Amino acid sequence: MTVNLLEFERTGFAQFCAELGEKPFRARQLMRWIHQIGADDFDAMTDISKASREAMKKLAVISAPDVGRDTTAADGTRKWLLDVGTGNAIETVFIPERNRGTLCVSSQAGCALACTFCSTGRQGFNRNLSVAEIIGQLWLANRKLGRGVDTPRPVTNVVMMGMGEPLANFDNVVAALQLMLDDDAYGLSRRRVTLSTSGLVPAIDRLRDACPVALAVSLHAPTDELRNDLVPINKKYPLKELLAACVRYLDRAPRDFITFEYVMLAGVNDSAEHARQLARLLKNVPSKINLIPFNPFPQSGYVRSDAATVAGFRDVLMQKDFTVMVRKTRGDDIDAACGQLAGQVQDKTRRREKRAAVATA
Ligand code: SAH
Ligand code: SF4
Repeated sequence: MTVNLLEFERTGFAQFCAELGEKPFRARQLMRWIHQIGADDFDAMTDISKASREAMKKLAVISAPDVGRDTTAADGTRKWLLDVGTGNAIETVFIPERNRGTLCVSSQAGCALACTFCSTGRQGFNRNLSVAEIIGQLWLANRKLGRGVDTPRPVTNVVMMGMGEPLANFDNVVAALQLMLDDDAYGLSRRRVTLSTSGLVPAIDRLRDACPVALAVSLHAPTDELRNDLVPINKKYPLKELLAACVRYLDRAPRDFITFEYVMLAGVNDSAEHARQLARLLKNVPSKINLIPFNPFPQSGYVRSDAATVAGFRDVLMQKDFTVMVRKTRGDDIDAACGQLAGQVQDKTRRREKRAAVATA
């Protein structure tokens, strides 16, 4: 049986090399070839002896998901549809900006958490992505964007904000994060890697111990009553517990604030009163608030708040000394904006059928 070296983080590479009777420094060489240079061919690894390369070839492959579709938006945002087998496809998005390039990475095929305004959530859930499928997105993006030995790194930041709930696929996501941070792999600083979660409280605590990268929390509502509707996991982990976990996380976080994401849904969560409630809720949590214009998808049932309403909401928060950003919508002409990632998911939860049944009842 062959192993896929994209599944390994540092300890996996060390074990693999030890089993082959190779010296420990080989593990570092291999990691660098694969993750820094983007090699998928052992024969390219010219500083490893031919005999060692042949032995490796018999046992291992370097294999990322196949690219199904590769689309570039008018603003330069690029989206790849990746085939992860058995009818499932996931999406990865690269967002170029003047002084950075951000890759938005998926963690699951679909999502079980069913937030009502999210296209991924509407689709249901199929399965967790493997380490190779998660880190493979970064590996592929660097190859597609032309990273080489002497070229600058196109991907400077990673956000775990693609399809899926990263903390519901904890072990594989943490292994992929470790590779993102590892100097022999991608060498990104913890501040440049952000994990976004809908609020799985016990897993936020585990992340704090295992790999405290920058944390973004999808809040979207200032009260439990409203959040129960929009983000159903709130019924299990209500706001008080969620915010306490955020405060605990700050002890280890690479930044001294938590980012709170808030999608602006017209007539649902966007009034000045909601803004005041949000200010009261967050008054003791060092925070940065990111207002996200709702990105529509077919049959969402929601409408984006208009610019004046978003500005009014922002002003209420700013008057109370919060740092607030209104997120620019990027790549919406290729459905690459937040919450629009749909891919193709073989829905094991049969959520779509259940919804259709409700609609026709
Ligand atoms: N599951 C994680 C990460 C993926 S979603 C989470 O929920 O945080 C990334 C961000 O996009 C989240 O803040 C999510 O709430 C937001 N989002 C989902 N659907 C959206 C939509 N239709 N328009 C705008 N933002 C959306
Ligand atoms: Fe899942 Fe995040 Fe979408 Fe909610 S917003 S359904 S947690 S991907």
